[in-house]
Amino acid sequence: MPAPSSNKNTKKLPKDCYYCVNNKLIVDYKDVGTLRRFVSSYMKIAPRRRSGLCASHQRQVATEIKKARQASLMGYVAR
Ligand SMILES: [Zn+2]
Repeated sequence: MPAPSSNKNTKKLPKDCYYCVNNKLIVDYKDVGTLRRFVSSYMKIAPRRRSGLCASHQRQVATEIKKARQASLMGYVAR
């Protein structure tokens, strides 16, 4: 008998990674408008449960946000 569906690690999640759905996009630190979707109001990088990104894109987004901060295109903290 299958376990009751209180399991949160269900495997049949629809793909809702922003970059996989819009597969034209590549993660780019100069694309601040898009990266801004993946930071909180305090400019913190959103965790996967909030960003909805897949693992590889979550890693890329985190790296690109850090690059954008270095290039002072994005802030480290909210003012
Ligand atoms: Zn993805």
